Amino acid sequence: MSTASNDTVRVRFAPSPTGALHIGGARTALYNWLMARGSGGTFVLRIEDTDRERSTPENVEQIIDALRWLELDWDEGPYSQFERRERHKEAIDRLIEAGVAYRDPATAEDVLAWKAEHGNRGYRGTPSDEEGAAVRLRVPDDGETVVEDVIRGPVSFPNAAQDDFVIARGDGTPLYNLAVAVDDAEMGITDVVRGDDHLSNTPKQVLVLRALGADVPRYAHLPLLHGPDGKKLSKRHGAASVQELRDAGYLPEAVRNYLALLGWGTEDDTTLMSTEELIERFSIERVGRSSAIFDERKLRWMNGRFMRELPLDEYTDAVASHLKAAGVEVGRDELRAACAIAQDKAQTLAEVWPLIRFLFEPPVDDEKARAKFLKPEHLENLRGVRAVLAETDPFDAATLEERLTAFVEERGLKPKEVYQPLRVAITGTTVSPGIFDSVAALGRERTLERVDAALD
Ligand code: GLU
Repeated sequence: MSTASNDTVRVRFAPSPTGALHIGGARTALYNWLMARGSGGTFVLRIEDTDRERSTPENVEQIIDALRWLELDWDEGPYSQFERRERHKEAIDRLIEAGVAYRDPATAEDVLAWKAEHGNRGYRGTPSDEEGAAVRLRVPDDGETVVEDVIRGPVSFPNAAQDDFVIARGDGTPLYNLAVAVDDAEMGITDVVRGDDHLSNTPKQVLVLRALGADVPRYAHLPLLHGPDGKKLSKRHGAASVQELRDAGYLPEAVRNYLALLGWGTEDDTTLMSTEELIERFSIERVGRSSAIFDERKLRWMNGRFMRELPLDEYTDAVASHLKAAGVEVGRDELRAACAIAQDKAQTLAEVWPLIRFLFEPPVDDEKARAKFLKPEHLENLRGVRAVLAETDPFDAATLEERLTAFVEERGLKPKEVYQPLRVAITGTTVSPGIFDSVAALGRERTLERVDAALD
Protein backbone atom coordinates (compact mmCIF):
# COMPACT_ATOMS: atom_id res chain seq x y z
CA MET A 1 0.00 0.00 0.00
CA SER A 2 1.26 3.44 -0.78
CA THR A 3 0.49 6.47 1.30
CA ALA A 4 1.21 10.11 0.67
CA SER A 5 4.80 10.99 1.38
CA ASN A 6 5.84 14.14 3.17
CA ASP A 7 5.69 16.17 0.01
CA THR A 8 4.48 19.72 0.20
CA VAL A 9 0.95 19.84 1.48
CA ARG A 10 -1.74 20.00 -1.20
CA VAL A 11 -5.24 20.37 0.14
CA ARG A 12 -8.53 21.05 -1.53
CA PHE A 13 -11.92 22.45 -0.78
CA ALA A 14 -14.44 20.60 -2.90
CA PRO A 15 -17.91 22.07 -2.43
CA SER A 16 -20.98 20.85 -4.27
CA PRO A 17 -22.64 24.05 -5.47
CA THR A 18 -26.13 23.42 -4.17
CA GLY A 19 -26.74 26.95 -2.89
CA ALA A 20 -25.31 29.08 -0.14
CA LEU A 21 -22.06 28.13 1.57
CA HIS A 22 -23.07 26.90 5.00
CA ILE A 23 -21.12 27.59 8.14
CA GLY A 24 -19.92 23.99 8.30
CA GLY A 25 -18.62 24.28 4.74
CA ALA A 26 -16.91 27.55 5.61
CA ARG A 27 -15.15 25.83 8.50
CA THR A 28 -13.97 23.05 6.17
CA ALA A 29 -12.65 25.62 3.69
CA LEU A 30 -10.93 27.56 6.46
CA TYR A 31 -9.18 24.51 7.95
CA ASN A 32 -7.88 23.51 4.52
CA TRP A 33 -6.74 27.06 3.87
CA LEU A 34 -5.01 27.30 7.26
CA MET A 35 -3.21 24.01 6.59
CA ALA A 36 -1.97 25.25 3.23
CA ARG A 37 -0.95 28.67 4.49
CA GLY A 38 0.73 27.27 7.57
CA SER A 39 2.90 24.88 5.60
CA GLY A 40 3.68 26.78 2.44
CA GLY A 41 1.41 24.31 0.66
CA THR A 42 -1.20 24.68 -2.03
CA PHE A 43 -4.92 25.24 -1.61
CA VAL A 44 -6.96 23.89 -4.50
CA LEU A 45 -10.58 24.84 -5.16
CA ARG A 46 -12.56 22.15 -6.90
CA ILE A 47 -16.23 22.62 -7.64
CA GLU A 48 -18.04 19.28 -7.51
CA ASP A 49 -20.61 20.22 -10.09
CA THR A 50 -21.55 16.86 -11.52
CA ASP A 51 -25.17 17.29 -10.43
CA ARG A 52 -26.07 19.37 -13.46
CA GLU A 53 -29.44 20.42 -12.18
CA ARG A 54 -28.25 21.95 -8.96
CA SER A 55 -24.90 23.22 -10.18
CA THR A 56 -26.17 26.43 -11.70
CA PRO A 57 -23.75 29.30 -12.40
CA GLU A 58 -25.54 31.25 -9.64
CA ASN A 59 -24.89 28.52 -7.10
CA VAL A 60 -21.22 28.32 -8.09
CA GLU A 61 -20.97 32.09 -7.84
CA GLN A 62 -22.48 32.05 -4.35
CA ILE A 63 -19.77 29.71 -3.09
CA ILE A 64 -16.99 31.70 -4.70
CA ASP A 65 -18.46 34.92 -3.41
CA ALA A 66 -18.58 33.53 0.14
CA LEU A 67 -14.96 32.35 -0.04
CA ARG A 68 -13.89 35.76 -1.31
CA TRP A 69 -15.73 37.48 1.51
CA LEU A 70 -14.03 35.19 4.02
CA GLU A 71 -10.74 36.09 2.31
CA LEU A 72 -9.84 32.46 1.75
CA ASP A 73 -7.86 32.68 -1.46
CA TRP A 74 -7.04 29.60 -3.49
CA ASP A 75 -3.87 28.84 -5.43
CA GLU A 76 -5.39 26.56 -8.07
CA GLY A 77 -8.81 26.34 -9.59
CA PRO A 78 -11.66 26.64 -9.48
CA TYR A 79 -11.60 23.30 -11.30
CA SER A 80 -14.87 21.90 -12.50
CA GLN A 81 -15.34 18.23 -11.70
CA PHE A 82 -17.88 17.94 -14.48
CA GLU A 83 -15.38 19.20 -17.04
CA ARG A 84 -12.98 16.47 -15.97
CA ARG A 85 -15.42 13.71 -16.91
CA GLU A 86 -13.24 12.43 -19.75
CA ARG A 87 -10.45 11.83 -17.22
CA HIS A 88 -12.89 9.93 -15.05
CA LYS A 89 -13.95 7.79 -18.02
CA GLU A 90 -10.33 7.05 -18.88
CA ALA A 91 -9.75 5.89 -15.32
CA ILE A 92 -12.82 3.66 -15.54
CA ASP A 93 -11.52 2.11 -18.77
CA ARG A 94 -8.14 1.52 -17.15
CA LEU A 95 -9.77 -0.21 -14.21
CA ILE A 96 -11.81 -2.45 -16.52
CA GLU A 97 -8.75 -3.31 -18.56
CA ALA A 98 -6.81 -4.17 -15.43
CA GLY A 99 -9.64 -6.47 -14.40
CA VAL A 100 -10.36 -4.59 -11.15
CA ALA A 101 -13.66 -3.28 -12.45
CA TYR A 102 -16.29 -4.98 -14.54
CA ARG A 103 -19.57 -4.41 -16.34
CA ASP A 104 -22.58 -5.86 -14.63
CA PRO A 105 -26.16 -5.58 -15.92
CA ALA A 106 -27.65 -6.37 -12.48
CA THR A 107 -30.52 -4.12 -11.42
CA ALA A 108 -31.16 -2.94 -7.87
CA GLU A 109 -33.66 -5.81 -7.47
CA ASP A 110 -31.06 -8.29 -8.69
CA VAL A 111 -28.67 -7.01 -6.05
CA LEU A 112 -31.31 -7.38 -3.32
CA ALA A 113 -32.11 -10.90 -4.45
CA TRP A 114 -28.41 -11.76 -4.42
CA LYS A 115 -28.06 -10.41 -0.88
CA ALA A 116 -31.09 -12.34 0.35
CA GLU A 117 -29.40 -15.45 -0.90
CA HIS A 118 -25.95 -14.64 0.48
CA GLY A 119 -26.82 -13.60 4.02
CA ASN A 120 -26.68 -9.89 3.30
CA ARG A 121 -22.98 -9.88 2.46
CA GLY A 122 -21.46 -7.27 0.20
CA TYR A 123 -22.75 -7.78 -3.33
CA ARG A 124 -20.47 -9.49 -5.86
CA GLY A 125 -21.62 -9.37 -9.47
CA THR A 126 -20.93 -11.41 -12.55
CA PRO A 127 -18.84 -9.72 -15.25
CA SER A 128 -20.64 -9.35 -18.54
CA ASP A 129 -19.98 -7.84 -21.94
CA GLU A 130 -23.42 -6.39 -22.12
CA GLU A 131 -23.50 -2.92 -23.63
CA GLY A 132 -25.10 -0.37 -21.37
CA ALA A 133 -24.29 -2.26 -18.19
CA ALA A 134 -23.10 -0.33 -15.13
CA VAL A 135 -19.46 -0.66 -14.09
CA ARG A 136 -18.61 -1.95 -10.62
CA LEU A 137 -15.35 -1.94 -8.73
CA ARG A 138 -14.18 -5.33 -7.54
CA VAL A 139 -13.91 -5.22 -3.74
CA PRO A 140 -11.64 -7.80 -2.05
CA ASP A 141 -13.53 -10.56 -0.23
CA ASP A 142 -11.39 -10.54 2.87
CA GLY A 143 -9.58 -8.09 5.03
CA GLU A 144 -10.65 -4.60 5.74
CA THR A 145 -10.16 -1.17 4.34
CA VAL A 146 -8.71 1.03 7.03
CA VAL A 147 -9.11 4.78 6.88
CA GLU A 148 -6.25 6.34 8.81
CA ASP A 149 -8.00 9.39 10.10
CA VAL A 150 -6.01 12.16 11.74
CA ILE A 151 -8.89 13.07 14.04
CA ARG A 152 -10.50 9.69 14.74
CA GLY A 153 -7.56 7.37 14.43
CA PRO A 154 -7.88 4.25 12.26
CA VAL A 155 -11.44 3.40 11.20
CA SER A 156 -11.91 -0.10 9.74
CA PHE A 157 -14.46 -1.16 7.17
CA PRO A 158 -14.68 -4.93 6.56
CA ASN A 159 -14.45 -5.63 2.83
CA ALA A 160 -16.85 -8.55 3.00
CA ALA A 161 -19.66 -6.14 3.92
CA GLN A 162 -18.83 -3.72 1.10
CA ASP A 163 -20.69 -4.15 -2.17
CA ASP A 164 -18.80 -4.16 -5.43
CA PHE A 165 -20.01 -0.61 -5.87
CA VAL A 166 -21.00 1.13 -9.08
CA ILE A 167 -18.38 3.54 -10.41
CA ALA A 168 -20.09 4.31 -13.72
CA ARG A 169 -23.71 4.19 -14.79
CA GLY A 170 -24.84 2.18 -17.76
CA ASP A 171 -24.65 5.32 -19.92
CA GLY A 172 -21.01 5.78 -18.94
CA THR A 173 -21.56 8.61 -16.43
CA PRO A 174 -18.85 8.38 -13.75
CA LEU A 175 -20.18 8.28 -10.20
CA TYR A 176 -19.28 10.43 -7.26
CA ASN A 177 -16.77 8.30 -5.35
CA LEU A 178 -14.89 7.48 -8.53
CA ALA A 179 -14.69 11.13 -9.57
CA VAL A 180 -13.50 12.30 -6.15
CA ALA A 181 -10.81 9.62 -5.95
CA VAL A 182 -9.56 10.27 -9.48
CA ASP A 183 -9.48 14.01 -8.90
CA ASP A 184 -7.70 13.70 -5.56
CA ALA A 185 -5.11 11.43 -7.17
CA GLU A 186 -4.56 13.51 -10.29
CA MET A 187 -4.47 16.75 -8.32
CA GLY A 188 -1.83 15.29 -6.01
CA ILE A 189 -3.90 15.93 -2.90
CA THR A 190 -1.92 14.97 0.22
CA ASP A 191 -4.57 15.72 2.84
CA VAL A 192 -8.32 15.44 2.57
CA VAL A 193 -10.04 17.52 5.23
CA ARG A 194 -13.83 17.39 5.10
CA GLY A 195 -16.96 16.88 7.15
CA ASP A 196 -17.68 13.75 9.07
CA ASP A 197 -20.69 13.07 6.88
CA HIS A 198 -18.25 11.85 4.21
CA LEU A 199 -16.60 9.18 6.34
CA SER A 200 -18.76 6.40 4.89
CA ASN A 201 -17.61 7.36 1.38
CA THR A 202 -13.96 7.21 2.30
CA PRO A 203 -13.39 3.44 2.16
CA LYS A 204 -14.86 3.44 -1.35
CA GLN A 205 -12.54 6.22 -2.40
CA VAL A 206 -9.58 4.43 -0.82
CA LEU A 207 -10.51 1.26 -2.74
CA VAL A 208 -10.63 3.21 -6.01
CA LEU A 209 -7.30 4.88 -5.28
CA ARG A 210 -5.65 1.55 -4.54
CA ALA A 211 -7.16 -0.03 -7.63
CA LEU A 212 -5.66 2.85 -9.62
CA GLY A 213 -2.30 2.34 -7.93
CA ALA A 214 -2.48 5.92 -6.65
CA ASP A 215 -1.25 7.38 -3.37
CA VAL A 216 -3.83 7.45 -0.61
CA PRO A 217 -3.98 10.88 1.04
CA ARG A 218 -4.18 11.45 4.77
CA TYR A 219 -7.76 12.00 5.89
CA ALA A 220 -9.24 14.23 8.55
CA HIS A 221 -12.99 14.08 9.04
CA LEU A 222 -14.27 17.05 10.97
CA PRO A 223 -17.00 16.43 13.54
CA LEU A 224 -20.22 18.11 12.51
CA LEU A 225 -21.21 21.46 13.93
CA HIS A 226 -24.05 21.60 16.40
CA GLY A 227 -26.03 24.45 17.89
CA PRO A 228 -25.90 25.29 21.61
CA ASP A 229 -28.91 22.98 22.13
CA GLY A 230 -26.87 20.03 20.87
CA LYS A 231 -28.87 19.67 17.66
CA LYS A 232 -27.34 19.69 14.22
CA LEU A 233 -26.61 23.26 13.16
CA SER A 234 -29.45 24.76 11.13
CA LYS A 235 -31.32 27.99 10.50
CA ARG A 236 -33.03 27.53 13.82
CA HIS A 237 -29.78 28.58 15.49
CA GLY A 238 -29.57 31.91 13.68
CA ALA A 239 -27.39 32.64 10.70
CA ALA A 240 -26.68 29.38 8.86
CA SER A 241 -24.79 30.54 5.79
CA VAL A 242 -21.81 32.76 5.15
CA GLN A 243 -24.04 35.21 3.27
CA GLU A 244 -26.25 35.51 6.34
CA LEU A 245 -23.24 36.17 8.55
CA ARG A 246 -22.16 38.93 6.21
CA ASP A 247 -25.63 40.45 6.11
CA ALA A 248 -25.83 40.31 9.88
CA GLY A 249 -22.74 42.50 10.00
CA TYR A 250 -19.97 40.17 11.10
CA LEU A 251 -16.38 40.85 10.10
CA PRO A 252 -14.62 38.12 8.11
CA GLU A 253 -11.66 38.16 10.50
CA ALA A 254 -13.95 37.51 13.46
CA VAL A 255 -15.71 34.69 11.62
CA ARG A 256 -12.36 33.13 10.75
CA ASN A 257 -11.18 33.40 14.32
CA TYR A 258 -14.34 31.90 15.77
CA LEU A 259 -14.56 29.05 13.25
CA ALA A 260 -10.89 28.22 13.74
CA LEU A 261 -11.34 27.88 17.49
CA LEU A 262 -14.38 25.60 17.19
CA GLY A 263 -13.24 22.16 18.10
CA TRP A 264 -9.68 23.35 18.49
CA GLY A 265 -8.79 20.92 21.27
CA THR A 266 -8.01 22.44 24.63
CA GLU A 267 -8.08 26.12 23.72
CA ASP A 268 -11.24 27.90 24.79
CA ASP A 269 -13.37 29.51 22.12
CA THR A 270 -12.88 33.10 23.19
CA THR A 271 -9.24 33.73 22.33
CA LEU A 272 -8.77 36.63 19.94
CA MET A 273 -6.18 35.90 17.30
CA SER A 274 -5.03 37.63 14.19
CA THR A 275 -5.12 35.62 11.01
CA GLU A 276 -1.30 35.35 11.10
CA GLU A 277 -1.54 33.81 14.55
CA LEU A 278 -4.26 31.42 13.42
CA ILE A 279 -2.08 30.29 10.54
CA GLU A 280 0.86 29.80 12.84
CA ARG A 281 -0.99 27.98 15.58
CA PHE A 282 -3.48 25.91 13.64
CA SER A 283 -2.89 22.21 13.39
CA ILE A 284 -5.39 19.67 12.17
CA GLU A 285 -4.15 17.12 14.75
CA ARG A 286 -5.50 19.36 17.47
CA VAL A 287 -9.07 19.30 16.21
CA GLY A 288 -11.21 17.48 18.76
CA ARG A 289 -13.30 14.38 18.11
CA SER A 290 -16.46 15.59 19.69
CA SER A 291 -18.90 17.73 17.80
CA ALA A 292 -18.21 21.43 17.99
CA ILE A 293 -20.82 23.89 19.19
CA PHE A 294 -21.45 26.94 17.05
CA ASP A 295 -22.83 29.59 19.35
CA GLU A 296 -23.73 32.79 17.56
CA ARG A 297 -23.68 34.73 20.83
CA LYS A 298 -20.01 33.96 21.22
CA LEU A 299 -19.31 34.95 17.66
CA ARG A 300 -21.19 38.18 18.28
CA TRP A 301 -19.12 38.92 21.34
CA MET A 302 -15.92 38.16 19.48
CA ASN A 303 -17.03 40.30 16.56
CA GLY A 304 -17.61 43.22 18.92
CA ARG A 305 -14.05 42.85 20.18
CA PHE A 306 -12.68 42.88 16.64
CA MET A 307 -14.82 45.89 15.77
CA ARG A 308 -13.56 47.87 18.75
CA GLU A 309 -9.99 47.23 17.75
CA LEU A 310 -10.31 48.42 14.17
CA PRO A 311 -8.65 51.74 13.32
CA LEU A 312 -11.42 54.34 12.93
CA ASP A 313 -10.95 54.66 9.18
CA GLU A 314 -11.25 50.93 8.61
CA TYR A 315 -14.23 50.84 10.93
CA THR A 316 -15.87 53.62 8.94
CA ASP A 317 -15.18 51.78 5.67
CA ALA A 318 -16.70 48.60 7.02
CA VAL A 319 -19.80 50.43 8.24
CA ALA A 320 -20.07 52.34 4.96
CA SER A 321 -20.04 49.21 2.83
CA HIS A 322 -22.51 47.50 5.13
CA LEU A 323 -24.83 50.50 4.88
CA LYS A 324 -24.40 50.68 1.13
CA ALA A 325 -25.50 47.05 0.80
CA ALA A 326 -28.60 48.05 2.76
CA GLY A 327 -29.19 51.01 0.45
CA VAL A 328 -28.06 53.74 2.86
CA GLU A 329 -25.46 56.24 1.67
CA VAL A 330 -24.20 59.09 3.85
CA GLY A 331 -21.24 61.48 3.75
CA ARG A 332 -17.91 60.01 4.68
CA ASP A 333 -16.84 62.71 7.18
CA GLU A 334 -20.14 62.69 9.02
CA LEU A 335 -20.10 58.92 9.09
CA ARG A 336 -16.57 58.86 10.47
CA ALA A 337 -17.56 61.29 13.25
CA ALA A 338 -20.62 59.18 14.04
CA CYS A 339 -18.56 55.99 14.08
CA ALA A 340 -16.12 57.58 16.50
CA ILE A 341 -18.80 57.74 19.19
CA ALA A 342 -20.42 54.38 18.39
CA GLN A 343 -17.36 52.22 17.92
CA ASP A 344 -17.30 50.59 21.34
CA LYS A 345 -21.08 50.18 21.48
CA ALA A 346 -21.87 47.83 18.61
CA GLN A 347 -21.12 44.12 18.32
CA THR A 348 -22.00 43.84 14.65
CA LEU A 349 -21.96 46.25 11.72
CA ALA A 350 -25.73 45.96 11.58
CA GLU A 351 -25.99 47.40 15.09
CA VAL A 352 -24.20 50.62 14.15
CA TRP A 353 -26.88 52.35 12.11
CA PRO A 354 -29.63 52.19 14.75
CA LEU A 355 -27.15 53.84 17.13
CA ILE A 356 -26.17 56.70 14.82
CA ARG A 357 -29.11 57.29 12.54
CA PHE A 358 -30.33 60.18 14.72
CA LEU A 359 -27.34 62.13 13.37
CA PHE A 360 -28.57 61.73 9.79
CA GLU A 361 -32.33 61.57 10.10
CA PRO A 362 -35.05 62.98 12.34
CA PRO A 363 -35.59 61.06 15.58
CA VAL A 364 -37.41 57.77 15.12
CA ASP A 365 -40.90 57.52 16.52
CA ASP A 366 -40.76 55.05 19.37
CA GLU A 367 -44.03 55.43 21.17
CA LYS A 368 -43.03 53.24 24.10
CA ALA A 369 -39.90 55.26 24.71
CA ARG A 370 -41.87 58.50 24.70
CA ALA A 371 -44.53 57.14 26.97
CA LYS A 372 -41.92 56.03 29.46
CA PHE A 373 -39.46 58.92 29.44
CA LEU A 374 -41.37 61.98 28.32
CA LYS A 375 -43.90 62.07 31.15
CA PRO A 376 -44.84 65.43 32.69
CA GLU A 377 -42.29 65.03 35.51
CA HIS A 378 -39.56 64.43 32.92
CA LEU A 379 -40.54 67.45 30.87
CA GLU A 380 -39.86 69.63 33.87
CA ASN A 381 -36.28 68.30 33.98
CA LEU A 382 -35.97 68.60 30.23
CA ARG A 383 -36.85 72.29 30.41
CA GLY A 384 -33.98 72.76 32.85
CA VAL A 385 -31.65 70.80 30.60
CA ARG A 386 -32.64 73.01 27.68
CA ALA A 387 -31.54 76.09 29.56
CA VAL A 388 -28.17 74.46 30.37
CA LEU A 389 -27.63 73.36 26.76
CA ALA A 390 -28.46 76.81 25.43
CA GLU A 391 -25.58 78.22 27.44
CA THR A 392 -22.96 75.49 27.27
CA ASP A 393 -19.93 76.74 25.41
CA PRO A 394 -17.89 75.17 23.93
CA PHE A 395 -20.52 72.62 22.95
CA ASP A 396 -18.27 69.58 23.29
CA ALA A 397 -18.65 66.29 25.14
CA ALA A 398 -16.38 67.21 28.07
CA THR A 399 -18.04 70.58 28.74
CA LEU A 400 -21.49 69.08 28.30
CA GLU A 401 -20.65 66.39 30.81
CA GLU A 402 -19.47 68.93 33.33
CA ARG A 403 -22.52 71.21 33.01
CA LEU A 404 -25.12 68.47 32.87
CA THR A 405 -23.59 66.64 35.83
CA ALA A 406 -23.72 69.86 37.83
CA PHE A 407 -27.38 70.30 36.83
CA VAL A 408 -28.27 66.75 37.93
CA GLU A 409 -26.56 67.31 41.28
CA GLU A 410 -28.05 70.74 41.93
CA ARG A 411 -31.56 69.41 41.42
CA GLY A 412 -30.84 66.28 43.45
CA LEU A 413 -32.00 64.05 40.57
CA LYS A 414 -30.92 60.63 39.39
CA PRO A 415 -28.86 60.77 36.16
CA LYS A 416 -31.40 58.51 34.46
CA GLU A 417 -34.23 60.96 35.17
CA VAL A 418 -32.40 63.54 33.10
CA TYR A 419 -30.46 61.65 30.49
CA GLN A 420 -33.11 59.21 29.31
CA PRO A 421 -35.63 61.98 28.52
CA LEU A 422 -32.87 63.89 26.75
CA ARG A 423 -31.90 60.80 24.80
CA VAL A 424 -35.48 60.08 23.77
CA ALA A 425 -35.89 63.72 22.76
CA ILE A 426 -32.89 63.74 20.42
CA THR A 427 -32.88 60.16 19.08
CA GLY A 428 -36.45 58.99 19.63
CA THR A 429 -35.15 55.83 21.32
CA THR A 430 -33.58 54.73 24.56
CA VAL A 431 -30.36 53.41 23.03
CA SER A 432 -27.64 55.63 21.67
CA PRO A 433 -23.94 56.19 22.11
CA GLY A 434 -22.92 58.02 25.30
CA ILE A 435 -25.30 60.91 25.98
CA PHE A 436 -22.63 63.65 26.06
CA ASP A 437 -21.04 62.33 22.86
CA SER A 438 -24.44 62.11 21.22
CA VAL A 439 -25.48 65.66 22.12
CA ALA A 440 -22.10 67.07 21.08
CA ALA A 441 -22.21 65.23 17.77
CA LEU A 442 -25.72 66.46 17.03
CA GLY A 443 -24.71 70.06 17.76
CA ARG A 444 -26.47 72.79 19.69
CA GLU A 445 -28.94 73.86 17.06
CA ARG A 446 -30.36 70.48 16.21
CA THR A 447 -30.34 69.39 19.85
CA LEU A 448 -32.35 72.42 20.97
CA GLU A 449 -34.79 71.97 18.10
CA ARG A 450 -35.45 68.38 19.11
CA VAL A 451 -35.73 69.19 22.79
CA ASP A 452 -38.25 71.93 21.91
CA ALA A 453 -40.23 69.51 19.78
CA ALA A 454 -40.32 67.07 22.68
CA LEU A 455 -41.40 69.80 25.11
CA ASP A 456 -44.28 70.64 22.80
N1 GLU B 1 -18.56 17.81 -2.60
C1 GLU B 1 -18.66 17.38 -1.24
C2 GLU B 1 -19.57 18.31 -0.46
O1 GLU B 1 -19.78 19.42 -0.83
C3 GLU B 1 -17.32 17.33 -0.54
C4 GLU B 1 -16.49 16.22 -1.05
C5 GLU B 1 -15.14 16.10 -0.44
O2 GLU B 1 -14.66 17.04 0.23
O3 GLU B 1 -14.53 15.08 -0.68
O4 GLU B 1 -20.09 17.94 0.54
